[in-house]
Amino acid sequence: MSEWHDQSDVIILGGGMVGLAFACALKNTGLRVVLIERGEAPVRESLGRDCRVSAIVRGNVQILQGLGVWEHLAGVAGPMRAMRIWDNQETGGIRFDAGEIGADALGYLIENSQTQKAMHKVLLDAERFEFCCPAEVDEIEWGDERVHVALKDGRKLSAPLIVGADGGRSWLRQQAGISCHQRDFHQQGIVATVRPERPHGGIAYQRFLPTGPLAMLPMSGDLCSIVWSAEDAEAERLMGMDDEAFLTALNRLFGPVLGRIVEAGQRAAFPLKAQLARHFVRPRLALIGDAAHTIHPLAGLGVNLGLRDAMVLAQEIADAKRFDEDWGKLSVLNRYMKQRLPDVLSVMGAMEGFHQLFTHDVPGLKLLRGAGMRLIGNSGAIKHLLMRNSTGLSLPVPKQIG
Ligand SMILES: Cc1cc2nc3c(=O)[nH]c(=O)nc-3n(C[C@H](O)[C@H](O)[C@H](O)COP(=O)(O)OP(=O)(O)OC[C@H]3O[C@@H](n4cnc5c(N)ncnc54)[C@H](O)[C@@H]3O)c2cc1C
Repeated sequence: MSEWHDQSDVIILGGGMVGLAFACALKNTGLRVVLIERGEAPVRESLGRDCRVSAIVRGNVQILQGLGVWEHLAGVAGPMRAMRIWDNQETGGIRFDAGEIGADALGYLIENSQTQKAMHKVLLDAERFEFCCPAEVDEIEWGDERVHVALKDGRKLSAPLIVGADGGRSWLRQQAGISCHQRDFHQQGIVATVRPERPHGGIAYQRFLPTGPLAMLPMSGDLCSIVWSAEDAEAERLMGMDDEAFLTALNRLFGPVLGRIVEAGQRAAFPLKAQLARHFVRPRLALIGDAAHTIHPLAGLGVNLGLRDAMVLAQEIADAKRFDEDWGKLSVLNRYMKQRLPDVLSVMGAMEGFHQLFTHDVPGLKLLRGAGMRLIGNSGAIKHLLMRNSTGLSLPVPKQIG
């Protein structure tokens, strides 16, 4: 590859929620940022709403506020005031209320497309930001001081750092020769918007079934979003059902807590995998979001981890620039990785533990999980700690960079 006529400071590959959040975080740093997105997937509607919905935990709402994204989400974010978890055997149950940690909500349910739209609005007036979309990388060359990228449309870019925010099947991660630890759950997450008979009151329900969890998440407008994790064969059977049969199956398993579920919109299914990249960084490369780690959606924390990656990496780059350091150097990027690994590993470990604890019906395990849930429910201190950790309120993450 010969001449490189673009001299950017940071190239981002992937304009999902995490790549866009990272671009928003760099907006006031004076860095020239180019984001390459191959073309956003069309929104899949279910009862007129995006069927991809994410719970953004309370601590990360503060991040979105700092980025100026939150103000564009007023009216579309459904507050999650409480969460009720119970298992298939009714051996125990636990309820978390936002009031117990002095918060108005544990988090908010937002359609992914709305979050992305809000992030695009924040980037509209960013002077040193270029959005290349639709665009794809044809070739990448790792130089000592810069990474060189040739796009399929002939454009050429170069920067001291490229950031992979290109999702679980990251092309960039493969190009860098970074392999992953992988765990295939042989499950699919079926998502859809549904209408229950009774108002949800801002309560999220998570029911653990032997085949996997079924979540009923409160959206704005008294609709709910379901994430029904089922083994591959069962998922295919559920996806193949007509609406009436699907509603019957859903009502039978979820129970009457919200009255009957009277309507279900179009369904979509996503294969569920846990995946951890063996390296988050290489000289001139950092991975963030699902490109670095993908987790089971049972706790709804994937994008939440990604937002924290984006903020920590942006802070490290901004600090490096301030101190005249090369932000593509491994020593700078290692600071990002060292800060993020404990959070990522603890969430991944907790998800694996939860999955094992709730999906096996060994008698001893059933007793243990009943006792565990009662212990957490009765112990103010443990519950408080668990809630502060799972809502991201205990983590020191920069809320504004610049
Ligand atoms: C059923 C389900 C429910 C979930 N619920 C929650 C939840 O409640 N809360 C939560 O926190 N998380 C949840 N998650 C996880 C969450 O959806 C992901 O963690 C999040 O979407 C990851 O964002 P990302 O930006 O890293 O990757 P992605 O959303 O995958 O975005 C990657 C982007 O990169 C682009 N791209 C890919 N390859 C290229 C390329 N070669 N060139 C250019 N562009 C490229 C893609 O077009 C895409 O726009 C859920 C996941 C599933 C499957």
